[in-house]
Amino acid sequence: MSCDFMALATPGVQGLHPYEAGKPVEELERELGIHDIIKLASNENPLGPSAYAIEAVQKALAEATRYPDSNGFRLKEALHQYYGLMPEQLTLGNGSNDVLELIARAFLQPGDEVIFSEYAFAVYHIVTQACSAKAVITPARDYGHNLQAMAEAITENTRLIFIANPNNPTGTALMRDELTAFLAAVPEHVIVVLDEAYTEYVEAGDFPDGLELLPQFPNLVVTRTFSKAWGLAGLRVGFAAASTVITDLLNRVRQPFNVSHLALAAAEAVLDDGDYLARSVELNRRGMAQLEQGLKQLGVGYIPSFGNFITVDMARPAQPLFQALLHEGVIVRPLGGYRMPQHLRISIGLTNENDRFLRALKQVLAC
Ligand SMILES: *Cc1c(COP(=O)(O)O)cnc(C)c1O
Repeated sequence: MSCDFMALATPGVQGLHPYEAGKPVEELERELGIHDIIKLASNENPLGPSAYAIEAVQKALAEATRYPDSNGFRLKEALHQYYGLMPEQLTLGNGSNDVLELIARAFLQPGDEVIFSEYAFAVYHIVTQACSAKAVITPARDYGHNLQAMAEAITENTRLIFIANPNNPTGTALMRDELTAFLAAVPEHVIVVLDEAYTEYVEAGDFPDGLELLPQFPNLVVTRTFSKAWGLAGLRVGFAAASTVITDLLNRVRQPFNVSHLALAAAEAVLDDGDYLARSVELNRRGMAQLEQGLKQLGVGYIPSFGNFITVDMARPAQPLFQALLHEGVIVRPLGGYRMPQHLRISIGLTNENDRFLRALKQVLAC
């Protein structure tokens, strides 16, 4: 008899399920033998990387035998120039997912409570559970965060609250007054993680900038990523901004070379490419309008979104529609794992990709 390794795992890990990522194009090619596939499943930037990033990576490749700068000096300097943040406030991560995990590892013990909302990003669940901490899930309001319910869920065992603004997978957003009132009401022993992965896309005037709130709230940690509007998802780089004390703690659990040399170089370079960011946002705005209009024409409901994706309500089990779309060569994201079995999330693509999705959807709805 072999050993029961499952029983040896920590209770948290025993209860975990692996993250389900968007289906890669190559995988669908292998499975169905089809070509000309479009992927609108992982909220990636459809523009392709910035020319600045490509050039920087090519240059950095020549130094690939060396370990990366474990302190990310140059990128932190560039972030200082761009956002006004001090290097002592910054923790660099292998994507912002890495930073979310560092926060959990630094602060969570078995039994500690972590609050997040229904329909929150799956990674909050994973990092909480991996630390054998207790997820306290509050009901959503209009698919978004119900801050009142979150505030009421706080106990003396609460260590962390995760809030994505805008939220993934629903695209909802919290505005400034509402968010700051909530932050003011949270006791200081509770760390609030404000995940701003999609912030660059938001154009609403009363949308809050978490970085500006940092001086006011010492228990606030803001996470940002280069994966979405900055177009570097494949390289894996993001960061947390927080007080110097919290930053010091996060850097104690960080692996010394967690961000690759290529990723550091690309992120530093892309911050100089303001034009790329502007084009990404503009493309997203137009693509969002195109999808909203197309969905209306098809009579398909959707949740108004502040991100680079839109979540549609198919008013019937969405998994078969997801499968049918795959056969049309269109990869979207089913949300059964988020307990939204009738919804699909569609990332905003290039104009022709959005068009192709709408035509494929019309086709599968007709069957
Ligand atoms: C995409 C996304 C991220 C970014 O993850 P990276 O690890 O930086 O690629 C973070 N939070 C949310 C809510 C996201 O949707």
